Amino acid sequence: SATKFKLTASSHPRSAEARDKILEKPGFGLHFTDHMVAVRWEKEAGWHDAEVMPYGPISLDPAAAVLHYGQEIFEGIKAYRHSDGSIWTFRPTANAQRMQRSAKRLALPELPVDIFVESLKQIIAVDKDWVPGGEEASLYLRPFIIGDEVFLGVRSAHKASYYVIASPAGPYFAKGVAPVAIWLSTDFARAAKGGTGAAKCGGNYAASLLPQEQAYENGCSQVLFLDPAEGKYLEELGGMNVFLVYGKENKLVTPALSGSILEGITRDSILQLARDRGMTVEERKVSADEWKQGVASGDITEVFACGTAAVITPIGQLKGKDFSVGDLNAPAGEVTLALRKELTDIQYGRAADRHGWLVRL
Ligand code: PMP
Repeated sequence: SATKFKLTASSHPRSAEARDKILEKPGFGLHFTDHMVAVRWEKEAGWHDAEVMPYGPISLDPAAAVLHYGQEIFEGIKAYRHSDGSIWTFRPTANAQRMQRSAKRLALPELPVDIFVESLKQIIAVDKDWVPGGEEASLYLRPFIIGDEVFLGVRSAHKASYYVIASPAGPYFAKGVAPVAIWLSTDFARAAKGGTGAAKCGGNYAASLLPQEQAYENGCSQVLFLDPAEGKYLEELGGMNVFLVYGKENKLVTPALSGSILEGITRDSILQLARDRGMTVEERKVSADEWKQGVASGDITEVFACGTAAVITPIGQLKGKDFSVGDLNAPAGEVTLALRKELTDIQYGRAADRHGWLVRL
């Protein structure tokens, strides 16, 4: 791309000692690197003024569109450090294209794929020391676009900004991969037919927070949403897609993309890895009753959730208003763990990248 990023280096970067202390136990989403990326957009001028600048507060006019009408989209993607020190990311074109689809739905400008990928390279170029080494640690990258035109009329903003911030992340499961309990939300939907469920926009997550609170109150760590039309079929968790394993049939089943589900890049990668292993894969409607009955009959042997943050999380138990299936104390299933290992081995450079999913940053 012809886009040149202007660099303004931070005059007060953290010391190597302060950084290493954070990298020892980064948690998730708590600490941010010394720099961020910004690219501006205007309706007439298009994308311009790409820069890498010191990390810090964004100044927004109180009448900026995003603060009133929620015109915001985001992405989540990781940078992985391989044992030779090189830094890679996973399927960035897929994230860039998903962000374009989100942009279209939210009437925001579509960022060209090459600027998206270049922006990740730019932030790594200045903040590479923030990419942790070690098993399952990564630098989580958060690209996002906001409508920031100063105008209170209800229409798509004629001014927008793209940013990338970066946050070191420790291993999701510090004590080994452990099954979680999931709350089946029947009071609330996350998305509507014809709504924004397939876009990665902040509003979807705002809608998921109250049901998420209900999940916590019921001893669960995540919510599972049902389809908004019939309230019968599984859609996805608040931030992850879901898979059922039919062990005896060597089969994986996941809800088909309904228009209200986010098209997870981990989901797509798992479908590929499962096909590679000779498993049957089905993307179709799957009901909560199928889950309950399949667990009871022994046909469904494992259930897991997947997404960039936790990779693959075994689901031990599904709970709802008047039922509970599964056993939280049962160990993670073998198919779940095998797929998890296969995917992380590729991401961390421990296995051949046979599908060409890795891009060097
Ligand atoms: N569903 C939702 C609602 C999500 O927020 C995410 C995380 N981006 C996913 C699924 C998983 O997507 P991916 O595998 O691309 O991280």
